[in-house]
Amino acid sequence: MSIAVYNTLTRQKEPLQPVTPGKVGIYLCGPTVYKPSHIGHAVGPIIFDAIKRYLVFRGFQVTWVVNITDVDDKLIVEAARQGTSTVELAERITADYLRAMKTLHVDGVDLMPKASEHIGDIVAIIQRLVERGVAYVSGGDVYFDVTRDADYGKLSNRRTDEQEGQRDLQSGEKRNPGDFALWKAAKPDEPKEVRFDSPWGSGRPGWHIECSAMAMRYLGETFDIHGGGLDLVFPHHENEIAQSESCTGKPFAKYWLHNGLTRFNTKKVAKSDADPEMQAALVKMTLHNLLAVYPGELIRFFVLSTHYRRPIEYSEAEIESKRKGLDTFYRTFERVERLCRASPYTQAGAPQSGGNGAVQAGKGVASATLASACEEQAAEFLRAMDDDFNTAGAIAALFEYAGAINRHIEQEKLETVGPEAGKHDALTATAGLIALARTIGLFLEPPERTTAGTDGTADKAMQVLIMVRQHLRKKKDFETADLIRNLLAEHKITLEDRPDGTVWRCE
Ligand SMILES: [Zn+2]
Repeated sequence: MSIAVYNTLTRQKEPLQPVTPGKVGIYLCGPTVYKPSHIGHAVGPIIFDAIKRYLVFRGFQVTWVVNITDVDDKLIVEAARQGTSTVELAERITADYLRAMKTLHVDGVDLMPKASEHIGDIVAIIQRLVERGVAYVSGGDVYFDVTRDADYGKLSNRRTDEQEGQRDLQSGEKRNPGDFALWKAAKPDEPKEVRFDSPWGSGRPGWHIECSAMAMRYLGETFDIHGGGLDLVFPHHENEIAQSESCTGKPFAKYWLHNGLTRFNTKKVAKSDADPEMQAALVKMTLHNLLAVYPGELIRFFVLSTHYRRPIEYSEAEIESKRKGLDTFYRTFERVERLCRASPYTQAGAPQSGGNGAVQAGKGVASATLASACEEQAAEFLRAMDDDFNTAGAIAALFEYAGAINRHIEQEKLETVGPEAGKHDALTATAGLIALARTIGLFLEPPERTTAGTDGTADKAMQVLIMVRQHLRKKKDFETADLIRNLLAEHKITLEDRPDGTVWRCE
């Protein structure tokens, strides 16, 4: 079985054949750290974290680089507005970003290079481009001449568009409207931390060249996968290709993977941060605010429930609907844990590198019906992931898999008379489901609710309430027993009476 990926460069699905067999290098354009990240900024990292985990599971040795753009016009403007230094602003926003990534279980990033620490690499590339006559110096700025690159436009099919940029931060004159800045001369009023020495005087690099320099430094002149949001195809990625390939004369990235943009309930694509309506919506949806309300796993599940190339529709209603879906899994896991008095999370173990979920899933399950359902859904999961990392299809297979476990519990009457062998099957099958889901970073640990407060205080208090209610029912004081249930319901805590006891959950 081979993995197929949709390549924006060729506009078709191609088998993934890494430059070096067995090894995959991935570069994902990271954040420009000038303002807090919103949900849209989490989409790429979540998707590529799932992709990396899956590739590792399929036996590849993966190096994943996400850069931090800490030298940029936007940063200079925002730091001045806040009356702080670009260094302080960048550090603060980077720390906020890293905290959010941790909560989202995005922990597969191998390297997070900063632009400010790679000025030497950047200057060396620009020098080569100037020597080759592909770039020119003008008023202390250095520009890339798009007319000198016959291939320019091959990624986006665009050539003649004027490059965006803040004109007031531009010193020199461009030869062609499509030319873009590789180096920008320092302005007299700019702080010293954004001034770097170069053969063209003091200044700072343009955004596009930063990515080329850091990608080539850590992954080589030609590497495997370059990722980013669809909004980066032009001009950012087009320019990365132009300057990198003009410098080395070699192909830059083999496969270009672009994720769909996030659409907010305003029905607008987050293309322009300048739109006031979008501004207000984005503040509400900063990762910091979202993660205060929703668990990281829910946001991750929400993002992975859509194929990465499709736009993600963000709204509270969408998140709530995904919460219900995620609860289906949690309830199944809790049910099995209650029955078997063992945690399927512990049983599952970490996904093995180079493993084969299809074999693992049904292994050790005695019931032929359950074993074949597990194998079938595990195979479906792998098929979906092998087909351009279709996490939505993979999650659909996990739902079917959970359905088979629940059917098994009911058919074998495990909650009332069920035999021990049937319970063992349920536990083994559930551990198989979790192991599979862990290949895309889901169900790595039990949901926060059960470990709330780390000492489980909430759960202990709930167990006391459940015992009091049972005591009241035994004494036939149904009125007070119902009062407890109703008061809890007002706080969105439901009690569920099951043959083997009462369980509680928050809505
Ligand atoms: Zn980039």
